[in-house]
Amino acid sequence: MIKAMTIATRSRNELMDITSQIQNVVRESGISEGLCTIFVPHTTAGLTINEGADPSVQRDILAHLEKMIPHRGDYRHLEGNSDAHIKASLVGSSQTVFVEKGQLVLGTWQAIYFAEFDGPRQRKVLVKVIE
Ligand code: ZN
Repeated sequence: MIKAMTIATRSRNELMDITSQIQNVVRESGISEGLCTIFVPHTTAGLTINEGADPSVQRDILAHLEKMIPHRGDYRHLEGNSDAHIKASLVGSSQTVFVEKGQLVLGTWQAIYFAEFDGPRQRKVLVKVIE
């Protein structure tokens, strides 16, 4: 079964730590050893794993993506959100994490981030845990 989670982002660009929600899905699955795949079914948002301890890292990632891929630029896409499409492709739309003893196997400093690039809005995250 695929678990669909709904999340509400708060800014146009945002990294939202969803590690605890994903861990809850793993717990509810009852699977203790396996893989957890997380997929974002959107074209202007993605998923990335990075440092969860120092919030400056989130700020630096977002600030430098913005610097490399500004909101306004030489784009042809008429919706005005080409930067968001490009950023979403760069970070990617899925991650797979090992599950051991019912826990996500992440490094000490790692967190799973929903990466919003065209918010704020309601978004979906799909999660599947397999043995
Ligand atoms: Zn678009």
